[in-house]
Amino acid sequence: MIRTRFAPSPTGYMHIGNLRTALYEYLIAKHYGGRFILRIEDTDQNRWVDGSVEAIHNTLITAGLRYDEGPDIGGEYGPYVQSRRKDIYLKYAQELVANGKAYYCFCGKECLDALTEHEKYDRRCLNLTAEEIQAKLASGAPYVIRQLIPDGETRFLDLVFGDITINNDELDDQVLIKSDGLPTYNFANVIDDHLMEITHVIRGNEYLSSTPKYNLLYDAFRWKIPVYIHLPLILNANGEKMSKRKGDASFEDLLAQGFLPEAVVNYIALLGWSPADNNEIFSLPELIEQFDETRLSKAPSAFDTRKLTWINGEYIKKLAPEAFQAMSLPVLKSAVKTPGIDLVSVSEMVQTRINFIYEIPQLVDFIDKLPDYGAELYTHKKMKTNTENSLANLKHALTVLYGLNLWDLTHIHDALAGLVESLGIKNGQMLWPVRTALSGKPSSPCGAAELCALLGKDESLKRIQMGIALLESYLM
Ligand code: GLU
Repeated sequence: MIRTRFAPSPTGYMHIGNLRTALYEYLIAKHYGGRFILRIEDTDQNRWVDGSVEAIHNTLITAGLRYDEGPDIGGEYGPYVQSRRKDIYLKYAQELVANGKAYYCFCGKECLDALTEHEKYDRRCLNLTAEEIQAKLASGAPYVIRQLIPDGETRFLDLVFGDITINNDELDDQVLIKSDGLPTYNFANVIDDHLMEITHVIRGNEYLSSTPKYNLLYDAFRWKIPVYIHLPLILNANGEKMSKRKGDASFEDLLAQGFLPEAVVNYIALLGWSPADNNEIFSLPELIEQFDETRLSKAPSAFDTRKLTWINGEYIKKLAPEAFQAMSLPVLKSAVKTPGIDLVSVSEMVQTRINFIYEIPQLVDFIDKLPDYGAELYTHKKMKTNTENSLANLKHALTVLYGLNLWDLTHIHDALAGLVESLGIKNGQMLWPVRTALSGKPSSPCGAAELCALLGKDESLKRIQMGIALLESYLM
């Protein structure tokens, strides 16, 4: 059974890279019928930010990434918060000490401060005798436990970055248990991944260089090493690693900007993974089916807001009419105050024309009030219209529409089509001027006949008369 885990530290908001990690972990688990686990890594209490655990829960739920085990829902391998597993780690560290794979270090801050940032610990506590260690422990001297890195080299396979070999010389005797008794991230993640039976470790490639140290720990315990999948960077528009500090949007920011969670999830899936065919629009169940860890790329991917915008528009178009109405009707109700307007049909008209819900008001503003527009709007090369023929055709339209008794789409449509035929003109030469007179805009969410039906007979005729007046004074 494949088990993956998302193991965020509660240090703030959820950035896009984190969400991609969570998504890939979820997809790999679900693709193989496995389980996806949420584990909160809060051993670094200094970096704790209030509210971030809630933000993590909310983000995963909003993104549709339901975890099978986690802090709030429990599971067989709990607790799922590292600070609540405090007692587990020390015992394992002591086991390593007993086997000569780790050692007590009593060097206080002062002696460590003497080392420069990139200098390795000089192992001076490795020379302490068993009696000296016992005496120090008995006196309550503060200590840390360090991993004893053996000589040699460490080799492992990463599914994305391939075969990796590191000379152990490059590795520091890292701290496993800190002086506050809590494990470091580096130690806790190994213990927890083992105890929680995680089979695939998926995370950002900033952990690639630490992985040999983790593998040495697995070896020291004679535990099975998980499959590793390290993910490449996501870059912002300036080609830098995305970060909140540089003003790059978090998941929450994107939702606040009007992106749909499903669209963001779809887009993020493409940042480092390429589907087998050219399709780029996937629902979450489709992603589960198609996601395949062999199609991950090690090249960094660039976050492209324009592409996300396009995907958002595709999602809006694909929504069932009722689902779209649930989003659009509240906006339409406050944007359109004219009584008697069929907002459900307006909703249908705008659905295919927007990338964001917030674009709706500007599309329908002409309903309440005909905008001031200039006569040049009537000139349209492709429609073969100009101010003169528009004036003539508007007059014809006014007469025919005035005489219509049944004001519905079919009758209006037939009336205008009949006129086109009897005048021997192109469709556009009739429809463009009528559409323009009714909307006062170079584009509208529907054509001439639909606009007539929407606005009603009186308002339609009034606007056509205004168009005629405008053109007459322009041509005078
Ligand atoms: N707590 C680490 C982080 O938030 C997790 C790294 C991992 O997945 O192992 O970056």
